[in-house]
Amino acid sequence: MSNKFDVLVIGSGPAGYVAAIRAAQLGLNTACVEKMTGKDGKPTLGGTCLNVGCIPSKALLDSSYKYHEAKDDFGIHGISADGIKMDVPAMVGRKDKIVKQLTGGVGSLFKANGVQHIVGTAKLHGGRKVSVVDFEGNETVYEADNVIIASGSTPIDIPPAPVDNELILDSTGALEIQEVPERLGVIGAGVIGLELGSVWNRLGSEVVLLEAMDSFLAMMDQQIAKDSAKIFKKQGLDIRLKSRVTGSEIKDGKVVVSYEDANGETQTETFDKLIVCVGRKPNTDGLLADDSGVKLDERGRIYVNDLCATGAPGIWAVGDVVRGPMLAHKGSEEGVMVAERIAGQKPLVNYDIIPNVIYTHPEVASVGRTEEQVKADGEEYNVGVFPFAASGRAMAANETAGMVKIIANAETDRVLGCHIVGPSAADLVQQVALAMEFGTSAEDIGMTVFGHPTLSEAVKEAALAVNGHAIHIQNRKRRK
Ligand code: FAD
Ligand code: AMP
Repeated sequence: MSNKFDVLVIGSGPAGYVAAIRAAQLGLNTACVEKMTGKDGKPTLGGTCLNVGCIPSKALLDSSYKYHEAKDDFGIHGISADGIKMDVPAMVGRKDKIVKQLTGGVGSLFKANGVQHIVGTAKLHGGRKVSVVDFEGNETVYEADNVIIASGSTPIDIPPAPVDNELILDSTGALEIQEVPERLGVIGAGVIGLELGSVWNRLGSEVVLLEAMDSFLAMMDQQIAKDSAKIFKKQGLDIRLKSRVTGSEIKDGKVVVSYEDANGETQTETFDKLIVCVGRKPNTDGLLADDSGVKLDERGRIYVNDLCATGAPGIWAVGDVVRGPMLAHKGSEEGVMVAERIAGQKPLVNYDIIPNVIYTHPEVASVGRTEEQVKADGEEYNVGVFPFAASGRAMAANETAGMVKIIANAETDRVLGCHIVGPSAADLVQQVALAMEFGTSAEDIGMTVFGHPTLSEAVKEAALAVNGHAIHIQNRKRRK
């Protein structure tokens, strides 16, 4: 094997493996370095997303939802299902099989496209040289015309709750719990905390989420966040805002957590397990030699411009290790953009239209600007809201909680954002994302013929409601 490549990618998460495959498709001689091992101790591909992130969490969310549905929701459909049992190790085992299949799939795609898979830990040096230390400690130095850093991120550890992955778990440890904890504490009511908390809530844990901030899902549209909070509360999630965790102690095999409550008083809670979900930090430790020429930004991420160029010639960075939302699809789009730019094409990533989803049930999904952001930007706007309670399809499915909200410019009617809490919100919001990519107006969506009866009709009706034309609810604004 030659030690010289057109493109060398560091990291095989959704940003890195996608960049590598696209570069190879474009005829570039490409390699991808990955240091991660799977649960079996063997080298794996796919990064956080496939091994310990998006996919395994969704596998457990889907399994736990099926259990909850069978146990608590079948009755309303006239189905009685007595003696429903769960087998947590079997659920975790199913999740592991999916991980294995998908990570193996990335290996097959590498082979099919001719991407060289290099196993080991990479370090970037000056002159686009990359040293890789393999699992036996042997070092090899590679050279490339272009290096794409896609080293991703890892969970943040906070001193008040040091992770031991026995009683105090990070998101990775939380995917390996083998029996339902009676009381489960979660620090951080963000996306990951809500998803992992939901898994165990459905399986019977009493779940308490301790969140330092005073508003729930502060980055989401607040009308949707408030509705979501009500729905989650009804499901039994105990979300305590203004509750900053200040310490923890292991006592008699349990975790005693201290936190400062909304009144500034110290409270304690005892949990069988505690999951720490306070955010993620970019992976840069030991990655950059002093002469690499790559700079970090004020938050310790690799500095890049809009095109993901670092400023050092031929060095690019994509995914969680750079600015922007830590989302798999955001990194993948950056990976494609960089590979195509290296090949001489001129694509861009549209950072204004990146969907964001919380895979609770119902899902919470958004794209574009929130009402708060549009207001802060001083833009005149109209809002259309359609509740799932008025959707025939949602009623048939017994999924009537939540709403679709569409925000459009008051003058041009151009859609600025869509925010949904409700059944299949992730897939519904994607319809609006696609339309926004083509510069849609709310009227365009309203004039589109939607199949009946579908959940998607809620999107059409919300779009019609923007201009007071909704048929199946009373309009806030009169029809012109
Ligand atoms: P990563 O996936 O973190 O991959 C980086 C890879 O680089 C890793 O495999 C790492 O081992 C490797 N690496 C790092 N340094 C080196 C080095 N020096 N040498 C060699 N290899 C190196 N996002 C979504 O969009 N949707 C979701 O539903 C979702 N759910 C999530 C659920 C959980 C529980 C978690 C933890 C995350 C979730 N995310 C989700 C976030 C998503 O996983 C990340 O945004 C995504 O994986 C980032 O991709 P990446 O390629 O930038 O980095
Ligand atoms: P996210 O950024 O979506 O992963 O969410 C992480 C959440 O953890 C944020 O909402 C933070 O406010 C919250 N958080 C961080 N530190 C603490 C802490 N010590 N106690 C409680 N919540 C915290």
